[in-house]
Amino acid sequence: MTLPQRREIETDQRLRLLVGLVVVVAILITATSLPVAARSAVTATPTDIAVLVVLTVAIALGTLVKARVRIRSTTHSISWTEAAIIIGLAIAPAQSVVLCTAVGITFASLRLPPIKMAFSVGKNVIVAWGAGITLAMTTWTWPPENTVALIVPVAASYLVAALLDDLLAIPVIALASGTKIAKQFRTNLDLRLAGFAVRFVVAVCTLLILDANFKLLLAIPPLVLSLHLGYSTRIRSRTEQQAWQRLARTTDALNVVDLDTVLTTAVTQAAELFSADEVEIELRLGGRTVRGGTGGITFDGPIGTPAEVDGTIVPAPLEGHDRTVDVGILRLRFRGPVQLSEREQYTLRTFASALCTAVRNAQAYAELARVADEHAYAAAHDALTGLANRRHLLDEGTEQLSTRHADGVTALVLIDLNHFKEVNDTLGHAAGDQVLVQVADRLRGAAQASDLVARLGGDEFAVLLRGLPAPAVAAHRAETLLAALHEPFELDGMRISVEASGGISVAPSSGGMAELLRRADVAMYQAKRAGQRIATYAPTRDTADLGRLTLGGDLPRAVADHEFVVNFQPIVDLGTGEVTSAEALARWHHPTHGMIDPLRFLEAVERSGLLPAFAEAILDQALIAAANWRDAGFDVPVAVNVSPRSLLDARFPGSVLARLRAHDLPPDRLVLELTETLTLSQLDVVDRVLSRLRDEGVRLALDDFGTGYSSLSLLSRIPVHELKIDRSFVTTMESSAEAAAVIRSTLDLGRSLNLDVVAEGVESEPQRRALWELGCVAGQGHLFARPMPAGTLLAAMQRGSGGRPGTLAAPLHDAGAVIRLSQNRRQTGRSRPDRLPHLPA
Ligand code: C2E
Ligand code: CA
Ligand code: CA
Repeated sequence: MTLPQRREIETDQRLRLLVGLVVVVAILITATSLPVAARSAVTATPTDIAVLVVLTVAIALGTLVKARVRIRSTTHSISWTEAAIIIGLAIAPAQSVVLCTAVGITFASLRLPPIKMAFSVGKNVIVAWGAGITLAMTTWTWPPENTVALIVPVAASYLVAALLDDLLAIPVIALASGTKIAKQFRTNLDLRLAGFAVRFVVAVCTLLILDANFKLLLAIPPLVLSLHLGYSTRIRSRTEQQAWQRLARTTDALNVVDLDTVLTTAVTQAAELFSADEVEIELRLGGRTVRGGTGGITFDGPIGTPAEVDGTIVPAPLEGHDRTVDVGILRLRFRGPVQLSEREQYTLRTFASALCTAVRNAQAYAELARVADEHAYAAAHDALTGLANRRHLLDEGTEQLSTRHADGVTALVLIDLNHFKEVNDTLGHAAGDQVLVQVADRLRGAAQASDLVARLGGDEFAVLLRGLPAPAVAAHRAETLLAALHEPFELDGMRISVEASGGISVAPSSGGMAELLRRADVAMYQAKRAGQRIATYAPTRDTADLGRLTLGGDLPRAVADHEFVVNFQPIVDLGTGEVTSAEALARWHHPTHGMIDPLRFLEAVERSGLLPAFAEAILDQALIAAANWRDAGFDVPVAVNVSPRSLLDARFPGSVLARLRAHDLPPDRLVLELTETLTLSQLDVVDRVLSRLRDEGVRLALDDFGTGYSSLSLLSRIPVHELKIDRSFVTTMESSAEAAAVIRSTLDLGRSLNLDVVAEGVESEPQRRALWELGCVAGQGHLFARPMPAGTLLAAMQRGSGGRPGTLAAPLHDAGAVIRLSQNRRQTGRSRPDRLPHLPA
């Protein structure tokens, strides 16, 4: 049972109790009056009987002729009953009048429900009895001696009658309408008082006329009728005026843009305006129903839920004046049978139309607000990942940096996925998108509440770190973020690893957010260039004037004008110092920026679609150099770096082989250095390209070995000839047992798979010796030579070291080590027996 239902039952019980009480008192009064009345009936003259009959009829008529006021489903009326009773009491015995009242009222209220009839009869019996006693207590005689002797007792008796009437009726009305007794008492008090006064005057006049001349009584009915009409018209126009005022106030109150407010106002105001027990509004848009009463909304939910109140339902469609729009329906519900007056019907139509407009306005406003919100969201977020976009990041960062007393340090981590374009190109954009979404999720998961994770576009992400306790914490946090990307991504059953590089910058003192972003960008390129996962911005290494993004536009010209040149870095036999091959490393000879390193333009080249032209240009220059060296007596192979994306091109092997033929070089004079990436490991086309090249005799090397994610599983798929130990291991091999272990196991692997192993980044003699002692035969690095133009390298080889042409370093003189290692070295593919004589035996 709901609360309103329970309350209603309680109200009902109280009403019954009250009515019961009234009826019991009235029955007692009637019972005591009966014997006296019966006794006086014995001595009654026909005139007396006629008077009593007329009186009964007058009381009945006075009850029937009334001004009606409807409150909820109950209509309340103000009648002439008490005037008729008073006149009766003045001229006939009180007990008889009580009986006449009981009979008259019973007849008058025959059409009413029993409970109302009982109450009406009971109340008026009590009123008649009270007024009768009052009159008896005065010095009343009929006919009266003078006017004063008439007016004073009648006034006293009338006062009691009026008081009793209100005292009994008001609590019942208040209970039935759910209003406060005090409020009910004040309602229309002025009109009620005036009504009482008029009826009192009529009663007194009637008595005076009766006293003076019986015949004048004929003048009473027209007088009463006109007074009655005037009074009820007054009451009606008063009610109407109030109703219009309320309607005007209500439609005014509906003039708000919030739909919920509109509905709440409409429900409470309609309940009050139409005295409805419940008001229901059903909106077509959104299928929403709200219900409630004067107290507010009691239900808000979908259409179709049954209402609590049944009885009369008065519906009003919520449509515009022209009936073209139809937003829903308004229903007034009443417990009892109710018929709206014409005025009320008109009010209802007006109200419904105002509500229709208000609802439409609110709905339109909500839609506008939603669209505006959506725009604001879309303007600040990346549609694919839901992360903040570049603009939002810049805004937030700017705000953070401009907050004077912001707590802690602000830093930015820029994260760039390596070789992401391959994912797109090989697995399709949908897969690429999935990876980006997963990357976004992981970054979000790894970020802290105060961080802002953003996608800057493409495969570039950024995380704004706010409130760091110290600048150094930024590096730690960046590690955590990048570590989150370490585990392979699950893509339709495939596992894909994505490598990422990170750049960190800590809030600059000037330049704001743009500078912070630029520095993070520079740091990221420093990381890529240094072969590290993460780098922190260092001003000393900042070559900002070469903004890498502007380089993109220069690329087509660079290819057309042959601005790409190749430097060669020799690879030497660690034992003898003899040059065994050379790696071709691309440079961009930019007309205004000068020499530019490959890490700064390679990605732009790969993205630009100019990769085939670029790769061909580099290969050409490398093969020309190798041919020249051979012609000069140094028949060393040349190693060329290959972009993973080139391996996706089925025409690549054909183009390489054609270049080799054009320069009249056997395929085994060319080493192609491959980096381990997703593309290499997972695609058939790559398998075919590499098999074709290998079958034709081209040598394959795995570059940066040890840094990739699946080095070993990769090796089983791609049969290469050579491994290149990544520079980072060589650099740290003396201090890091881990790095040394990687080198050792790579060398073991090389021996067991019969692969050549080349150590990159050899910068010192101790490194060279340590590598040599571990069984590494070949090395490359600044210790021997930096990358240089082909001609310079030829000259260096011709000059030689210590008078021996072809060498770039003095041989190692550790006989024990050489003898011990020579057996191992014999087993490796690259070691040639003819070199052994150079070594001390
Ligand atoms: P990589 O293949 O690992 O090349 C070795 C890089 O290490 C070169 O940088 C080289 O200059 C540098 N290096 C050599 N010895 C030392 C040393 O002792 N110490 C230090 N600190 N560095 C040393 P570079 O020329 O900047 O090339 C960077 C990367 O760019 C290369 O790494 C390679 O992956 C790529 N790359 C270069 N040229 C080409 C090209 O023609 N095509 C493609 N696809 N990639 C290229
Ligand atoms: Ca390389
Ligand atoms: Ca390398």
